[in-house]
Amino acid sequence: FSVDPAAHNPGRQFVAGKVPLGLKRKGLRVLVTGGAGFVGSHLVDRLVARGDSVIVVDNLFTGRKENVMHHFGNPNFEMIRHDVVEPILLEVDQIYHLACPASPVHYKYNPVKTIKTNVVGTLNMLGLAKRIGARFLLTSTSEVYGDPLQHPQVETYWGNVNPIGVRSCYDEGKRTAETLTMDYHRGANLEVRIARIFNTYGPRMCIDDGRVVSNFVAQALRKEPLTVYGDGKQTRSFQYVSDLVEGLMRLMEGDHIGPFNLGNPGEFTMLELAKVVQDTIDPNARIEFRENTQDDPHKRKPDITKAKEQLGWEPKIALRDGLPLMVTDFRKRIFGDQDSAAT
Ligand code: NAD
Ligand code: UDP
Ligand code: UDP
Repeated sequence: FSVDPAAHNPGRQFVAGKVPLGLKRKGLRVLVTGGAGFVGSHLVDRLVARGDSVIVVDNLFTGRKENVMHHFGNPNFEMIRHDVVEPILLEVDQIYHLACPASPVHYKYNPVKTIKTNVVGTLNMLGLAKRIGARFLLTSTSEVYGDPLQHPQVETYWGNVNPIGVRSCYDEGKRTAETLTMDYHRGANLEVRIARIFNTYGPRMCIDDGRVVSNFVAQALRKEPLTVYGDGKQTRSFQYVSDLVEGLMRLMEGDHIGPFNLGNPGEFTMLELAKVVQDTIDPNARIEFRENTQDDPHKRKPDITKAKEQLGWEPKIALRDGLPLMVTDFRKRIFGDQDSAAT
């Protein structure tokens, strides 16, 4: 005999470990906004595998059905094509709020839409969380640190962001989303979590999304030159997607609000990244220098002391180990093996 208490009284009663005596624990009901995207779809895989009932809300702007198609037909999975800028009524226990284009090319494509997604979309998801008493996790970004004057970046650093630049729709949008999240926490007593995600790569990234890892990998596979912007001495830290998903789930399940940096502290210049891609795919791949984009941060590297101490989390997969896993996926997608798209 099992009863789903949440069906009668939506909300907190059903959080892990708090199930009333005598009732068998079932999986949680989890909403993943942006769940058809790169990070979201990997998170969905883990949640479904854990036995949760997962609802994906996604407008498919940068996400793809192929990323979650392997769950179609599973009664514990549901996908709703919906734009988070519009209100929605659902009943869940947890909300992972990822909906937002992440690649600079995509978020600059329609900047007003990007900021609406971050502000109005986040407001709607917080309003939803408040109504049903769900725990809410925001996927913020290392971009809140802007072009940082502190290195590596610690969560207490307030950042150096241009409020009127071409990246502001994303940077300032995410900063406002963090503000909203904390205001709902303080004002409405909402249970919230904030992750500041650093550059992440892996299978299912959009092949032509303009981000550096996807660009270099696709270019090397297609025998095109690797496009290094500027002098290539700017740095980033690259995290493999499974490490991020583990961090997001620990954050959601743990007792700490954050914000937490979730990233791999291994720091690479773009020229060093190009070398790793050459070593992995094609030692003869040429490098071509291009003009850099406006307001490009010069360096970025997370200090993850807080996540290590409070979440017991740290990344496990080094760039040279993670890159080949992504290359396998890109190779199959670029050269047309249909079976591989959703693996
Ligand atoms: P992605 O573009 O692959 O996924 C974003 C998903 O959100 C897509 O499926 C897209 O269709 C959906 N979406 C966008 N606007 C929407 C809207 N208005 N309504 C409903 N759905 C919408 O990007 P990703 O790399 O998977 O990023 C996921 C989240 O993580 C984003 O919030 C991003 O800002 C954050 N993040 C990612 C990285 C990274 O390196 N991947 C770094 C920092 C932060
Ligand atoms: N909202 C939603 N789903 C819900 C509850 C709220 O989409 O189940 C939206 C609602 O439309 C509003 C936003 O979330 O625009 C903020 O809701 P809240 O109740 O916090 O504020 P209010 O509606 O009082 O402005
Ligand atoms: N970049 C590059 N070549 C490319 C794409 C990007 O050299 O083909 C550089 C870009 O200028 C930036 C870094 O790579 O310095 C990371 O860019 P990305 O768009 O991946 O992420 P960001 O951290 O800027 O959001």
